[in-house]
Amino acid sequence: MPDSYSLSAIQKIAVVGAGTMGAGIAQLCVQAGYPTQLFDLNQATLLRARQSIEAGLGKLEEKGRLTAEERAAALGRLQTVNELDAVCADLIIEAVVEQLPVKHQLFADLAACNGPRTILASNTSTFPITQLAAPVRQPERVVGMHFFNPAPLMPLVEVISGAATDPAVAETVRQLALKLGKTPVLAADAPGFIVNRVARHYYVESLKAVEERVAPLEVVDELLEATGFRMGPFRLMDLIGVDTNFAVTSSLFAAFHYDAKFRPSRVQQQRVDAGHHGRKTGRGFYQY
Ligand code: NAD
Repeated sequence: MPDSYSLSAIQKIAVVGAGTMGAGIAQLCVQAGYPTQLFDLNQATLLRARQSIEAGLGKLEEKGRLTAEERAAALGRLQTVNELDAVCADLIIEAVVEQLPVKHQLFADLAACNGPRTILASNTSTFPITQLAAPVRQPERVVGMHFFNPAPLMPLVEVISGAATDPAVAETVRQLALKLGKTPVLAADAPGFIVNRVARHYYVESLKAVEERVAPLEVVDELLEATGFRMGPFRLMDLIGVDTNFAVTSSLFAAFHYDAKFRPSRVQQQRVDAGHHGRKTGRGFYQY
């Protein structure tokens, strides 16, 4: 076992949660040469993730950014795993649902079946890393590694240190982000870090406008896209996952002591309750 945390000590990566984010993160890891385990509780999700990684690597080959051999080798580095206690790596990136008790339980389970120096990174959008790390054995190895959607394409990664995070752990993750071809930015450990805190109002205010019948959602999308936003808020929520976006807003609302400016929308709650979670379920604010 190495004495200190370093990029060279990362030989094997695991990604836990193979949904919208986990699949893309695992793709980046195999592309960068890391043997990577991918785990999800849901077998159908795991299968879909493998297919999406195959498709993603295939596209890169079509564009001439990977040779056929490189594509096959990257795919060969991917191992989908059915049992959590088979997840064993030098760095584990969790990308499970945005629920604190679920993430706490997961880190406890992973700590039990991995060595004390396995780095536990979280792709959480909102939970302070200090709060995530508090109940974990050896909390100095817990760090935030926050990718953006779609992970294979978006360059930014926020790297977040909690109160207990060893600076060498944050530095290792920063260097890894560079190796994955990303632009890492060190963010302070505040709810929502930088991007989700600021961007929240893009969604919250648009939902409010629709609730107040200022304009239909399609019009809000069209107008914002016409002003230069790449995606209107409703199309973007469908890409993110309406349920995930709702969970992120709810978490920030609580974290900022129920400040009304973060209040989640009933219109959005209804979509979540109806199972209209966006592209991943074939229907969200739009039909796919
Ligand atoms: P998702 O709903 O698409 O996928 C979450 C996956 O976690 C599901 O496949 C579910 O089966 C799995 N899961 C739940 N509990 C589990 C457990 N205990 N063990 C293993 N798997 C479990 O969610 P997502 O959008 O990929 O979000 C995942 C995380 O990434 C969240 O923390 C979210 O805030 C964050 N995030 C999301 C986005 C985005 O745009 N969707 C962007 C950045 C960060």
